[in-house]
Amino acid sequence: MRKPFIAGNWKMNMNTDSAVSLAGGLAKELDGVDTVDVAVCPPFVYLRAVATALSSSNIALGSQNVYFEEKGAFTGEISCEMLKDVCCTYAIIGHSERRHVMGETDALINKKISAAINSGLLPIFCVGELLEERQAGTTNKVVSRQVKSGLEGICKERVQAVTVAYEPVWAIGTGLTATPDQAQEVHAMIRGLLADLYGNDVAQSMRIQYGGSAKPGNTAELMSQPDVDGLLVGGASLKVEDFAAMVKTVA
Ligand code: PEP
Repeated sequence: MRKPFIAGNWKMNMNTDSAVSLAGGLAKELDGVDTVDVAVCPPFVYLRAVATALSSSNIALGSQNVYFEEKGAFTGEISCEMLKDVCCTYAIIGHSERRHVMGETDALINKKISAAINSGLLPIFCVGELLEERQAGTTNKVVSRQVKSGLEGICKERVQAVTVAYEPVWAIGTGLTATPDQAQEVHAMIRGLLADLYGNDVAQSMRIQYGGSAKPGNTAELMSQPDVDGLLVGGASLKVEDFAAMVKTVA
């Protein structure tokens, strides 16, 4: 039985006060919720402050990105050890904005996933097709390529640290949500692929989140799908009442 996992991606939003206030509000609202794993992923510069605000809660901390090198002349980058030093448990890797705005490749994402697992961080590994790829009927091909490349060289003992997040790019921040059937179809395809790569037991143990305009009003129907194990939430994670309502719906 996979424990549901809801993560909030705050993207490039907040300042110290609003980040601490959002984290504190969630800690209060979600006190006692233990049937769902919950994480928030603030911008790097607010990780420490948010970690302090969450210190007596069950809510875990994640980053929105990570670099694969351990240390050295990589100006502007943040290592796995640095993230662990500020109490991160998770790292979002391969988010569509990093793939399509910052130009991250499957090969780079693979190095990041590998480095994260080696260091003990749990990757939230994002995959998803563009609108034109869906319209051209290549969703499964694109997503399979992303999953296979991202996990290349990662053995079955290590891959279970990974949560896969299926995020159709056309649904991120657009208000368009994949229908529960569309989400389930791709999630089932991903699980089948994981079974081919790692065996059915491993595939059944791994969580696959959906992301793309998830909100309180569509949480229950998305989560009712057998292969949807959680949500990666952008916009709706910025309000205590919305994010808390989604977690409580799932709990
Ligand atoms: C995201 O950033 O991962 C995301 C899914 O955003 P939104 O919920 O705003 O579509």
